[in-house]
Amino acid sequence: MKKLVVLGGGESGIGAALLAQHNNWDVLVSDAGMLSAAAKQAFELHHIAWEEGGHTLAKISQASLVVKSPGIPNHVPVIVAIENAQIPIVSEIEFASNYTKATLIGITGSNGKTTTAMLTHHLLTESGVNAGLAGNIGNSFAKAVIEDQHEVYVLEISSFQLEHIQKFHPHIAVITNLTPDHLDRYDNSFKAYCDAKFNLIKNQTDNDHFLYDAEDKSIASGLARHDVKANQHPYANANSTPMFAIDNPSLRGRHNAKNAMAAATIAQLFQLSNQEIQASLQTFQGAPHRLEQVVKILKVDYINDSKATNINATFFALDSMTKPTVWIVGGVDKGNDYTSLLPLVHEKVKAIVCLGVDSQKIMDVFSPVVDVLVEAKSMDVAVKAAYKLSSKGDAVLLSPACASFDLFENYEDRGNQFKAAVRKL
Ligand code: ADP
Repeated sequence: MKKLVVLGGGESGIGAALLAQHNNWDVLVSDAGMLSAAAKQAFELHHIAWEEGGHTLAKISQASLVVKSPGIPNHVPVIVAIENAQIPIVSEIEFASNYTKATLIGITGSNGKTTTAMLTHHLLTESGVNAGLAGNIGNSFAKAVIEDQHEVYVLEISSFQLEHIQKFHPHIAVITNLTPDHLDRYDNSFKAYCDAKFNLIKNQTDNDHFLYDAEDKSIASGLARHDVKANQHPYANANSTPMFAIDNPSLRGRHNAKNAMAAATIAQLFQLSNQEIQASLQTFQGAPHRLEQVVKILKVDYINDSKATNINATFFALDSMTKPTVWIVGGVDKGNDYTSLLPLVHEKVKAIVCLGVDSQKIMDVFSPVVDVLVEAKSMDVAVKAAYKLSSKGDAVLLSPACASFDLFENYEDRGNQFKAAVRKL
């Protein structure tokens, strides 16, 4: 029996292990950290061998294939040892793709993956296409493939998942945009990060389709470096008559108009009619924490954009604001350059609430363009401050442009705390 090692026992590792076991591999899951109770239970139930708190190299070196979880960096000793032993390493997405005949739609980018993937899935399923949604969203692709009841999979794919691509071949690929994020993983090389994203189209042929934001300069330079064989479908806000009229609060903002263009183009490739697409665009409900309208209190809108963990996402949030805005910003700064936000902040923001353990940089950058800046070290304090600073006809926007790990477990926790604090007002 061929031996497979799954490195990392998180969501995608569990999926890969179950799929491999299902397909008669002799599987070992090996995790440097501690496995969750749910992971151990799944492995015990399916008689899958596992180890935690370290890797036994003697066992790992017997593998004929390694599936690496996206969270594991490439330079750690176990990966170096596997590479030295010339054992092939693939990502869970690639491994899973070997076990399905479904048509694959792969969606990557720095921002907009979840929204574009959910919207694509919505348009297809509303018109009766047998499509599943997997990857970074919901079930891992490997878990989805075990049952394989779908003819089409819409996959949300992170750059980490794209690092180990040999044969993965989506029929339709989307790069929503490229903006600096996770650069710590790429030795601070934005080019290396972009190149990982372009692995998505590496195995496409002239029977396939590649959609991308035509206005994104980093995608344009990526296009110059990479060989594109697929049919290209660039889309843009500027100078184009909108294909569809979008009157849906879940799709507000120029960024969402682009996400909608990508999803609608995919729907057209599936021969859906424009009427069907138009109708389904109206019924789409966005994911929480993305420009999510929470409530209106005393004629002030409260908007939760906690998922905005980088400058580009916050840029589009501010860009979409039509009312004077009290902006809650801050958290773990991943080397942000806030300059691109200054004109928008000057135009739209009446007060800033800096939320984070260390707010000095934000205070320094924005005090020349905004008169009122206050600091808060908890969500309750931040929301109460925003309440006091806002008046009838304003909006309060949480769009942090930073990661959440200083005060919160993750961006969901941050968004949920915001909603809870707002509802307590
Ligand atoms: P991802 O899955 O890539 O993180 P999401 O759809 O979850 O993308 O959106 C993340 C953040 O980026 C949200 O704040 C959202 O409002 C913003 N956003 C969504 N689409 C785009 C886009 N095309 N360009 C820039 N920002 C976007």
